Amino acid sequence: MTDVRLTSKQQSQKVVEKATILVIDDEKAMRDSCCQVLTKDGYRAETAVDGDTGLQKIRELKPDLVLVDLKMPGMSGMELLEKVADIDPNIVCVVITGYATIESAVEAMKRKAYDFLPKPFTPDELRIITKRGLEKRRLALESARLQQEKETMRKNFITLVSHQLRSPLGSVKQYLGVIKEGFVGEVASKQKELMEKAVTRVDDLLQLIDDWLDMSRIEAGDITERFKPVALAHVLSEILELLKPSAEAKKVALDLNSPSGLPVVEGDREGLKQAFANLISNGINYNREGGMVIVSVVEDIDDLVVEISDTGIGISKDNLHFIFDEFFRVKSKETRGVSGSGLGLPIVKKIIEAHNGSIKATSEVGKGSTFSVILPKAKAEQ
Ligand code: ADP
Repeated sequence: MTDVRLTSKQQSQKVVEKATILVIDDEKAMRDSCCQVLTKDGYRAETAVDGDTGLQKIRELKPDLVLVDLKMPGMSGMELLEKVADIDPNIVCVVITGYATIESAVEAMKRKAYDFLPKPFTPDELRIITKRGLEKRRLALESARLQQEKETMRKNFITLVSHQLRSPLGSVKQYLGVIKEGFVGEVASKQKELMEKAVTRVDDLLQLIDDWLDMSRIEAGDITERFKPVALAHVLSEILELLKPSAEAKKVALDLNSPSGLPVVEGDREGLKQAFANLISNGINYNREGGMVIVSVVEDIDDLVVEISDTGIGISKDNLHFIFDEFFRVKSKETRGVSGSGLGLPIVKKIIEAHNGSIKATSEVGKGSTFSVILPKAKAEQ
């Protein structure tokens, strides 16, 4: 059997040789002559007579390179440039113009055009600019692919190490427990104290590994396979019941405001429970004695909005940008005593996004934080 897999170099070569090029120009003669040159050179050349048709073709064909006339009736080349960048920033755009001025060149470059082809141009000038543009695209695609590959390798490595560490760490914890309880000989109180500290550290490490493995599972898309109608209010009151002891220990009050008869969401009950439990326990852990965590659910037109507000330590503007990043933890006097992996919020975000929802946070230092989760309501059965 022939191996049809292409090496990365071959794939990039393919971009150059089999590239699709779209020529958008209202002048038939210009479209025809460009197509003739490009087809002769082995490219797939397509045409569009104006900006609107061009944009539609860009969406359908996903061309590698677009040659666009600046001056066309209807949507101008400039307007089109901006829209192409929104569809795919790696599509290379070359502007064709009969009136190349410095101003128009600057304007087009600002809108991410790669280069200029002033009219009239020779077939060779078209060839050179096309080749250079496609080389730029090949490099951009190659670099994005390598970046993606690097990230996947990094994640796979951590997942592998996590799996390998989990069971020996479990054994270490068990041995420490046996020694600490005096089953293999008398233990002095100082030794017991140190061993308790060691068990706590092992527990933190096990929690970190479990969080990472959870995240890999969510990324692999496992949870979407278990989607069923879920009544959020039930899930939330179950979590509050579960977290009552830790809230009481921290002297933090919990409150749930949820109207009856709310519609269900389509989702994974356990995943949603994990996400909201994370948010509510953060509200408890990063709170102060006598503080509160208020959970409320409101129905919107297409969504349910769950807000988790606390009267805790808050998060500064600078740190707020990073709280959904993996392993990010705020290091301050107030957070020193709270153990955690810095994976809680990234897991929450992944779970909510797997439900086609979104999450955002607002906060004020010293006053508290609010996490708002938007989840689409389940569509009614036809
Ligand atoms: P961790 O395991 O550290 O709690 P998270 O990903 O859940 O990890 O949160 C990241 C960081 O964001 C926390 O370390 C904490 O500094 C901050 N944080 C999260 N939730 C809150 C909150 N409700 N109030 C104040 N800070 C918070």
